[in-house]
Amino acid sequence: MPPHHPAAATPAVDGDDQLVLPGFDPAPPTPVRSSYRGTPLAAPPSAATIARFRAKVVVTPGCHFFVGAVSNPDGYGRINFVDGGAQRTVGAHRFALILVHGDLGPDAVGEHDCDETLCVRVGDGHLKLGTQSANLAHAVATGRHLGSTPAYRDPRGRYGRAVAIRDALLGGYDPDRLRAALAGVDADSIAAPTLF
Ligand SMILES: [Zn+2]
Repeated sequence: MPPHHPAAATPAVDGDDQLVLPGFDPAPPTPVRSSYRGTPLAAPPSAATIARFRAKVVVTPGCHFFVGAVSNPDGYGRINFVDGGAQRTVGAHRFALILVHGDLGPDAVGEHDCDETLCVRVGDGHLKLGTQSANLAHAVATGRHLGSTPAYRDPRGRYGRAVAIRDALLGGYDPDRLRAALAGVDADSIAAPTLF
C-alpha cells in the first residue's frame, strides 16, 4: 500500500493576478506593495494616524499631494501605522479612500483620473474608488499602459517623478517649484531658490 504523502504541498499562489493585456509589458516583477490590499483593517485608523496622514498632505489648486514616504517603483505614497497590534503599510491614496469610504474590499483600488500617483484628493478628476479590473480597463482606454500619460511617459519613471514632486512640496505649496517638478526641470532655473 503506497504511503499517503501529504500531497506535496502545493505552493500557495498568492495575491497579484497578473492580467496580461495586449501591448502591456508584464515583465518587471512588480514588487508593488499590494499584499495588504485585500486585508481588512482590524480597526478604523486612529485619530493620531489620521492626523499624521493629514500633516503630510499639501493642498494645491489641483491635486492634493502626499509628501511622506514614496514607494519604489510605483511612485505611490505610503503610510505605516499599527493596526490591531501589527504594523501595516497602506498606500496613501488608498488610505485617503478609506477615510472617505471606510475600509475597502479586496478588489477595490484607488484610481487616479489625474494620473498623479501621490494625489490623495478624493473626488472628480482625481482619486476615486475603482476595481482592479476597471482600473486596468481605464489604463488601456487612456493608453496609460503604453506610457502616454504624464506619470507613465516621464523619463524619471514613476518613482523619480513622485519623489521630485514630493521634494518640491516639502516646504509647502509653491507653484513655481511644483511646476518645475511636474515638468522635470530644475526649479532654480525658473524660480529663485526658496530658503526654508
Ligand atoms: Zn489629483
